[in-house]
Amino acid sequence: MKKKRRRIRKEFIITVISALVIIGLIVGLIIYFNKDQLVFNYTDNNEVNIFDEVYNTDFITKIENGNILTEKERIDTSLLGTIEVKLRVEDNHKKEHEYKITIIVVDKEDPVITYEKEISTEAGTKIDLLKGVSATDNSKEDIEVTVEGEYDFNKEGEYKLFYVAKDSSGNVKKEEFTLKVTKKKEEPKKETTPTNQVDKTFTTSKGFKGEVKNGITYIDGFMIVNKTYSVPKSMYPFDPVKCNNNQVLNSTTCNAAKQMMAAAKEDGINLYIASGFRSYATQNSLWTGRKNSNGIEFADSGTARPGHSEHHTGLGFDMCGGGDGCITSAYANTPGAKWMAKNAYKFGLILRYPNGKTNETGYKYESWHFRYVGKELAEKLYNNGDWITLENYFGITSKYSD
Ligand SMILES: [Zn+2]
Repeated sequence: MKKKRRRIRKEFIITVISALVIIGLIVGLIIYFNKDQLVFNYTDNNEVNIFDEVYNTDFITKIENGNILTEKERIDTSLLGTIEVKLRVEDNHKKEHEYKITIIVVDKEDPVITYEKEISTEAGTKIDLLKGVSATDNSKEDIEVTVEGEYDFNKEGEYKLFYVAKDSSGNVKKEEFTLKVTKKKEEPKKETTPTNQVDKTFTTSKGFKGEVKNGITYIDGFMIVNKTYSVPKSMYPFDPVKCNNNQVLNSTTCNAAKQMMAAAKEDGINLYIASGFRSYATQNSLWTGRKNSNGIEFADSGTARPGHSEHHTGLGFDMCGGGDGCITSAYANTPGAKWMAKNAYKFGLILRYPNGKTNETGYKYESWHFRYVGKELAEKLYNNGDWITLENYFGITSKYSD
């Protein structure tokens, strides 16, 4: 009985020891293998921003007992969407493993708007609120900017508005700005001085400045009346005076005429004013009478039509005396006409319709008709007896329009 017990105890001890050895071996093996086990940890489904600088190895969080075989490489993040990155890893037992990492390219950044905080305009003047305004985005796409809010260019006030920019990923940027619509400035009142109002300006063929004021034409400041240029029907001489022989003339013209008469008298020639100012009505009956008796061509060659006569201005007049036949072609040969032809310019008077200049003046030679222009111009036009006409001097015509 004792022998049997001892044998049982011996077997039990052997079994326990064997079990311990086996457990020990297993634990040893586990420890041995785990010591060499590849550890490769990484994050997956990684969100990155568009155009971010990202590398294929950026998502590895831990690596033990192994080497990465795949080379470090930058990932193209220029397009929105999912990218799969493959990484090959070798463990310490020269065994290769492949891992797939998912990267999601997103755009979470808002566009950036370049703008002015305040814009102003005058009421009634529309302006382009988007002028000079632009938006950029990290996606590098073209971003449209729109204006949000209520405003009225015709109504004074300060309007709080927004510039809105939206990218294709739905990121919206809003920037507030102020539109100031100010009171419309008063238009400066137009000066209305009818006496000096210039109706029209022009330049003659010889470069002189022409002006039409109240229907009267001036060239280089000289009033011009001929077949081309007329005066208004109602015109009366400026600064009128009753001159010699009860004829009305402009006062300066009258003075010149009187000085010429006085000088002629000293030479034994008695001059007088045969005709000064003639109204539209007077000229009309004069011209119409000649037209009716001798035809229009005859009338026009020696008599101005109403509105086209220098007698209408008080600057032109007929001077007679010193011989007979005034206001006829015979007068040219009288001492009076000859004296005036030589001396009139000294008083600022010109022989208005000289001999041989009909194609310039539009009239036959009139040895009795003078016009006041002032001494300076009169001397130029006298031209040592070879009279230059006003038409030639200024470069203008004398022709009726019809
Ligand atoms: Zn005359």
